[in-house]
Amino acid sequence: MPRLRGAHMTPLSAEDVSVRFGGAEVLRNVDIAIHPGEIVTVIGPNGSGKSTLLRVLLGAIRPATGKVTRKQGLAIGYMPQRLAMDGRMPLTVRRFLSLPVRRRADAARAALARVGVPGIEGQSLATLSGGQLQRVLLARALLAVPQILIMDEPTQGLDQPGTAAFYKLVEDVRAETGAAILMVSHDLHVVMSASDRVICLNGHVCCQGAPKVVANAPEYRALFGLGTGGAFALYQHAHDHDHDHAEQDDAR
Ligand code: ADP
Ligand code: MG
Repeated sequence: MPRLRGAHMTPLSAEDVSVRFGGAEVLRNVDIAIHPGEIVTVIGPNGSGKSTLLRVLLGAIRPATGKVTRKQGLAIGYMPQRLAMDGRMPLTVRRFLSLPVRRRADAARAALARVGVPGIEGQSLATLSGGQLQRVLLARALLAVPQILIMDEPTQGLDQPGTAAFYKLVEDVRAETGAAILMVSHDLHVVMSASDRVICLNGHVCCQGAPKVVANAPEYRALFGLGTGGAFALYQHAHDHDHDHAEQDDAR
């Protein structure tokens, strides 16, 4: 493995990283590198360590072993999976955008407009729809002027049109900024059509590569089965039908 060259070129990488909570090893021996401008999607069942992987890359969790390398001064925008706050707290959008880093009012206004929810600064977070909240979370991440945008299930709770609109927005943002995108997603159809690289995680990296390669990998199939929707509508070969695994379609 060309480690020296890789370490020099990649803005964000993990090398042989393991994470333990108490006695439980949640991630083991994970190697991952994010290259400038690429879209990398992490998929895997519930509890497979996806959010933990993002948080260890961000520096929010210390690995038990191994090493995370972030290029000096790397700007990361982060959209967490859920907000660690009380929904009844009377927090305005404007205040929220300045947590934890204080942002200028004009920058906040521009970011909200950019993500399609202009003028909602004064609204209480608790009154927003699911789609509005995800856009506010994205606006907050964009205020970091990220070179890497890290999103943890960004379309969770959105309906199909809302999900499509959100991914279109992310695509536009990437085209404008050239930011790399690292995300966790269960939207397999989008994952398989819009990612440069897919990482299949289950405590360790089961397989990774171009969407088409991963969709055909036995490790992926064991985890996600052979459904009619999502990835396999795109990539399944006619002779590969295997309905024995259909009950795993909703595996997350
Ligand atoms: P995923 O995002 O793939 O659903 P997570 O990374 O959130 O999975 O969690 C992986 C495992 O680690 C789960 O068993 C979860 O309960 C556990 N876990 C996550 N965060 C913590 C924590 N802060 N303390 C203890 N256990 C945790
Ligand atoms: Mg998660």
